[in-house]
Amino acid sequence: MALQLENVTKRFGNFTAVDHLNLKIEKGTMYGFLGANGAGKTTTFRMILGLLNANEGQIAWNGKTISYATSPEIGYLPEERGLYPKMKVEEQLIFLGELRGMNKADAKRAIDQWLERFEVPQYKNKKVEELSKGNQQKIQVIAALMHDPKLLILDEPFSGLDPVNVEMLKKAIIDFRNNGATILFSSHRMDHVEELCEELSIIHKGKQIVSGSLRDVKRSFGRQNVRIRSDYDLTNL
Ligand code: ATP
Repeated sequence: MALQLENVTKRFGNFTAVDHLNLKIEKGTMYGFLGANGAGKTTTFRMILGLLNANEGQIAWNGKTISYATSPEIGYLPEERGLYPKMKVEEQLIFLGELRGMNKADAKRAIDQWLERFEVPQYKNKKVEELSKGNQQKIQVIAALMHDPKLLILDEPFSGLDPVNVEMLKKAIIDFRNNGATILFSSHRMDHVEELCEELSIIHKGKQIVSGSLRDVKRSFGRQNVRIRSDYDLTNL
């Protein structure tokens, strides 16, 4: 198992944000983590990345504890999209690439390729603040991908993107998975998960309500008499 969480629990004071969560994600899988706002998705990701300590439970990547700060094999798109508004796009990405262990020449090459692929090469020397929110998001996605991570954690990667850019990003992450990366992404939209994921888990108010293959999950929902429409928005759960 590439990524494994066992009985992971996070409490903030008396409030339990994540309650005995179990995830088993095999290498090379695209895994969807679905839940409404406040379900506990970001908190879970931050625990996997070692940015928050769990109160209980175990988290392992290839059998070992990981830390985003020290493991260059992780790529992370945080929910709070934190770029430096005054920095130019290329400078920013070189800086972030170096933090993930890249040298400057490799970073520059990867940046050029990704800016082309995401159809924004013209922004290379623009300040981040001059870009639209959607284009800033593409830059942040590039920051998560450019060092070719083996584990890619994407927090709501499609929110704020128009349909054309959603398709562009979907293709990019499918290519990553096809090259052997393990991908975990959160969403509150069933249709994105249905299209991309082999496996998924649904979390609601910190509790895992169902997990498994798409077929298993649909069957389980059927038993609970809840219909999953393709555009099902989990804020309705
Ligand atoms: P969203 O889609 O809105 O980001 P989420 O599923 O990512 O939702 P989390 O951000 O993990 O949800 O939050 C889960 C719960 O934990 C929320 O009720 C949130 O208010 C609470 N929470 C998160 N971080 C803290 C914190 N540092 N202190 C107290 N409560 C917190």
